[in-house]
Amino acid sequence: MNEYDSSKIMDILRDEFEAEASDSAQYSDILIMNTCSIREKAQEKVFSLLGQWKKLKDKNPNIRIAVGGCVASQEGEAIIKRAPYVDIVFGPQTLHKLPEYIRENKLNSKQIVDIHFFKNDKFDHLPASTDVKPTAFLSIMEGCNKFCSFCVVPYTRGEELSRPVQSILDEALSLASRGVKEINLLGQNVNAYRSDVSSGKSIDFSFLLRLIARIDEIERIRFTTSHPIDFNLDLINTIIELPKLGEHLHLPIQSGSNKVLSDMKRGYSREYYLRIVERLKKGKPNLSISSDFIVGFPTESTNDFDQTLDIIDQVGFDQSFSFVYSPRPGTPASILSDSVDLEEKSDRLRRLQEKINLNSRLISEEMVGSRQKVLVENVSKRSSAEVTGRALNNKWVNFLGSKSLIGSVVDVDVTNTVSNSLRGRAIVHPTEVIAVA
Ligand code: SAH
Ligand code: SF4
Repeated sequence: MNEYDSSKIMDILRDEFEAEASDSAQYSDILIMNTCSIREKAQEKVFSLLGQWKKLKDKNPNIRIAVGGCVASQEGEAIIKRAPYVDIVFGPQTLHKLPEYIRENKLNSKQIVDIHFFKNDKFDHLPASTDVKPTAFLSIMEGCNKFCSFCVVPYTRGEELSRPVQSILDEALSLASRGVKEINLLGQNVNAYRSDVSSGKSIDFSFLLRLIARIDEIERIRFTTSHPIDFNLDLINTIIELPKLGEHLHLPIQSGSNKVLSDMKRGYSREYYLRIVERLKKGKPNLSISSDFIVGFPTESTNDFDQTLDIIDQVGFDQSFSFVYSPRPGTPASILSDSVDLEEKSDRLRRLQEKINLNSRLISEEMVGSRQKVLVENVSKRSSAEVTGRALNNKWVNFLGSKSLIGSVVDVDVTNTVSNSLRGRAIVHPTEVIAVA
């Protein structure tokens, strides 16, 4: 989400001021920090980096400093109090106003704090990106109404709001016309998406997926993040029926224990989650599933944690975003008494990640010898003679090939595994050989 917001900040400044991203903080006109407050560690980094930026501004007072994102949203004026050299504080919903604030600050040097939530105002003011890659994010909704007991998002990003369907389709068509092949639909709970249309009907997430899938140039569609509680049968069938949705799903579970899930206010049980997976795998047997986990929630006992390990075995997750629980100010879970010490929590996290890494390695090894459709995204970091892209199940595959393949889907025979990724050999079809001859 922040990656998307950062790219939009860059687009806006390029559009308004012909600004360019710089790799030297010292010689920049403006330093912008897009912050995250999902865990304490991310929040701590903000003030340590601001301290470094202060030294640059002491040497060059023309540098302007702006702080955006969720820490800005949560702290507001407090940022200026603690770091009085900051010029502009803006939230995730006011990033489109940044040019206005920069102009104002240039005129009168007054510090500006604006962390309001605007209703969908932002999307009407975002210019099209000029930095086009084969895959692109597309935000379909803002905020969250779920209020899981551990999470700060509903307080920092505001209430759940779906972007009008026409605005989404316009952006999808525009991305397609500029060579984008894969769209990743973004939102905190994309499957809660609902947009009213003039006929009086409303469009839900499944329908939106079907609309986007009709854009010929878009070969793949992904989404981040869906919530188990809004996973209905229609969405299950849509995932099974639409080949463009590929063979990978990210579906956060957080814990495998019903007691912890209830304390987290997630609204589903492990049995319910397993039923979704079972139905999906019935229709798409090769579907790979990744997930988010929180380890060491204050009420998590050893037995609860064992249930998380158990569900990892049952589902066979092949990747995770997993972290030790971090108490966030203002959330209901932050006042729960916590009996698990940090060492034990870190040990649980290590065990969980080892298990998922092992699953991931097994899945990679099973792919050796298979033929995969790889959407080429980049020149490989390891060798300029190789390119890299993702298979339908989201695994990275490297193979010998030229830069000109970026943006195309190539058939690749997987030959071996290298740590977390795969290596392969591109298949040259007979027609292409004739064309070259
Ligand atoms: N809306 C998504 C998740 C968004 S936040 C969902 O509900 O699935 C991304 C991830 O950060 C969460 O899935 C969770 O695993 C993690 N997270 C959120 N708050 C956290 C906290 N207080 N401590 C540790 N991890 C947290
Ligand atoms: Fe946070 Fe829960 Fe909303 Fe996800 S669904 S953003 S975890 S409150």
